[in-house]
Amino acid sequence: MKIVLATSNKGKVREIKELLHDREVFPYTDLMEGFEIVEDGDTFKDNALIKARAVYRALGDENAVIIADDSGINVDVLEGAPGIHSARYAGENCTDKDNLNKLVNAVKSVGRESSPAHYTAAIAIVSKEGESCVHGWMHGEVITQPRGENGFGYDPIFIPAGHTLTLGELDSEVKVGISHRAKALHLAKILIDQIKMQRS
Ligand code: IMP
Repeated sequence: MKIVLATSNKGKVREIKELLHDREVFPYTDLMEGFEIVEDGDTFKDNALIKARAVYRALGDENAVIIADDSGINVDVLEGAPGIHSARYAGENCTDKDNLNKLVNAVKSVGRESSPAHYTAAIAIVSKEGESCVHGWMHGEVITQPRGENGFGYDPIFIPAGHTLTLGELDSEVKVGISHRAKALHLAKILIDQIKMQRS
């Protein structure tokens, strides 16, 4: 069964492939030209479904199972920002580093050196059998001194609960065991297996 990822984000593709290592998984850009998807939903779930539906339609392979991840970070002292705007927090064509710097400055601007925060991942699954969406969360703390080069996005300033190192410093195997994406994919695998059973 062909599982197609509705993302071209290299960090996400790497992590999802690692988590679904026992399945055949292709980023959609391996199968067709990449295209812009307008993520205008109000929630992680809405945006994950928008991406999965768009790739399902564009691919035109009715046997494909599309999975899309929409994710981001909510910071308590910023009243939950950047949330669903995490990817473009610093502007349209910003880099991960621009976003991280903006978040560091925003936390400092409210007089704090750190804040409780959490990551959310919504994983949508779209196939001819229908649509579904599952979630995973990772709680921890955002700090204003970036540390480490591992992971992607906001990982150098995120310390998961129960740890003292940032995700930028921790090995990728540690993140795979505790991350929002890993927890959501664990549930997604159950749904993917159900589709497989329905088809056999
Ligand atoms: P999306 O592609 O619209 O879902 O945006 C996700 C954005 O949230 C990424 O570009 C990162 O800025 C942030 N993000 C989501 N998951 C992670 C993670 O596991 N580590 C670091 N940043 C993440």
